[in-house]
Amino acid sequence: MQLQSEFVKEIYLLDKLPFEEQRVIHALVVFWKCTRFLHLNQVRPSPRILELIYKCSIGIDFFRQVYHDLCSDRRIKYVGFSETEFKQFLEIEYNQPFVEHQAQARANQEQARADFDALGEEMAKTTDRKERFELGLRREVLAPFTGRIFVYKNHCWCCQGRISSAIHAQCPRCTFYICSSCGNCLCGFPGYSGYHGKAVSPFLPDYPDDLS
Ligand SMILES: [Zn+2]
Ligand SMILES: [Zn+2]
Repeated sequence: MQLQSEFVKEIYLLDKLPFEEQRVIHALVVFWKCTRFLHLNQVRPSPRILELIYKCSIGIDFFRQVYHDLCSDRRIKYVGFSETEFKQFLEIEYNQPFVEHQAQARANQEQARADFDALGEEMAKTTDRKERFELGLRREVLAPFTGRIFVYKNHCWCCQGRISSAIHAQCPRCTFYICSSCGNCLCGFPGYSGYHGKAVSPFLPDYPDDLS
């Protein structure tokens, strides 16, 4: 039982049960308590509990199953439970899909980060501008799924698209970042004729920003 309580504590750290689900769990515990010593034919159905169950956002099938168990011979399944154990049983069962969902979301984010970083490594390996541009494009698509905050350092001189040195690829020729909206770097800037340190910046002033 010790293990089970620790598990309950742990899932509470992830999230608290929504209000509707708490009401259903409470109602089912009361129903179980009031009916467990009654003869089966003395147990009155409770439309109120069903009504509460249908207001839940998830766990409807599970709660409905428990309710029907309590109204039938299947209530024998819960006969050995104490009140606390029965309540914990409902909470753990309810939280199961939520815990899985959280684990899945974390795995997806880790995958997006790994893919994002791998694209960056490929970017560093190639000197082909077209290839770099395409890798930068893929990184921009992945960026929101990494859970990282990217500060956009600049806006593209041509289309005003946001450019981040942490996402986009550098042009091998002019070394400026390639805009993934229009594909321009400094090479296409009117009057630009090769890299020189004192070039007047074709970028607009910085607008620190993020993707959220
Ligand atoms: Zn652009
Ligand atoms: Zn360039």
